Amino acid sequence: MNDTKINNNYTDLLEAMLNASESEELLNSTFSLILKIFNIMTRVQIWEPIFQTNEYSVYYEFLNKDLSSMIKHHVPYLPESTKKDFENTPVWEYENIECISLNKFNISSLIATEISIQNKNNFLLVLTTDNKDLNLTIDDKKLFIKLAKLFEKEFSKIEDAFANNDKINRLQNQNTNLREQEQLRKNLINNISHELKTPLASILGFSNMLVSKELNQVSSKEIAEQIFQAAKRLSSIITDFLHINKTDTEGWYLNLEMCDIGEIIKESVEEFSSLYKEFKIIYHISNNYPIIKTDPKLVRQVLDNLISNSIKYSPSCGNIIVTLDIVSNNKEIIVSITDQGIGIDKDEFSKLFNRFYRSNNPQVQKVSGTGLGLAICKEIITALSGTIEVKSEPNKGSKFSFTLPV
Ligand code: ADP
Repeated sequence: MNDTKINNNYTDLLEAMLNASESEELLNSTFSLILKIFNIMTRVQIWEPIFQTNEYSVYYEFLNKDLSSMIKHHVPYLPESTKKDFENTPVWEYENIECISLNKFNISSLIATEISIQNKNNFLLVLTTDNKDLNLTIDDKKLFIKLAKLFEKEFSKIEDAFANNDKINRLQNQNTNLREQEQLRKNLINNISHELKTPLASILGFSNMLVSKELNQVSSKEIAEQIFQAAKRLSSIITDFLHINKTDTEGWYLNLEMCDIGEIIKESVEEFSSLYKEFKIIYHISNNYPIIKTDPKLVRQVLDNLISNSIKYSPSCGNIIVTLDIVSNNKEIIVSITDQGIGIDKDEFSKLFNRFYRSNNPQVQKVSGTGLGLAICKEIITALSGTIEVKSEPNKGSKFSFTLPV
């Protein structure tokens, strides 16, 4: 090798090392240049010691023809006897190697020196060749050691920067999570207070009217009815909260029995129809649907929740259709509730079933809610070994479907 060639390549190498921003890039660019400088060598490898087996595995490999990293082949420890101290740096030089595991990979000679990677010593930077003679001059060896030291320094810098970046990213993520949780907590307190205050205000207002006794018989009955409805609403909200807290620690308690899902749908639809006359709530039940073993009260809870959402989120009323079908070769039944309401943005689908999630859509914010209904539906359906999903289009309507095994 002549001096100008070495110097030029060394400058290129320095530049490549300084410009590399990832370890992979550093490995690729520097090792191709190392091979250019030592053109009699065929490959550059980094060997990692495996102490239990007294072998090295190839941690990284760069060939002058094609690149293949992390090849898992093992080579025996290099005998101490061949190690030489070269200006205080241990160097192994092997010529005409007679070692089956090395010859297998076309390695006939090699030069190696220790480097440290990720604060671990004992890795070896190895240049190998299929030539039987190494024919390296003293200057070549000096250069090899210089390159190894330079590589070690730049590689650690990149790894440190990478680790720091990783740390920063992790901290940033944690920060975002904390901020999201804080926002969720604030929303939750707002929602709960609002939810509890509305029926409570009705109860207080109406009961005050009763107390003032300025009412005749008929209106006191109507007022008592209003109080009853508000108290029922309050009770159902508190039940939801308690439910979700209880199932967190105890899971869902299932009361399984043979159920006629068609009948459950009919009862629920008829009840909602009589209460919400402005809606057209209908059902289509497929013929010969099977009787299934499930928890009827929980299924009814899911159904009521989904129909009540369809009503809540359909300000211009419209049709609500509940269907029962058989799918998956009679292995599952599927119940769907379709409305013509405000619909849901696709981006929100994945969050809908999270506890306390409510859309930011002003039309949703206008209606009161705790964001627990769908989360409870999902938990119940999962406990009953089914699945629940949503299809929707903003301003067109939504379809919530759940399956139950037969
Ligand atoms: P809540 O109705 O109390 O807000 P849910 O868990 O039942 O809580 O629903 C979560 C959110 O999903 C709602 O706030 C609303 O944004 C959306 N959503 C649920 N059902 C419908 C529906 N049928 N149409 C449009 N949006 C819906």
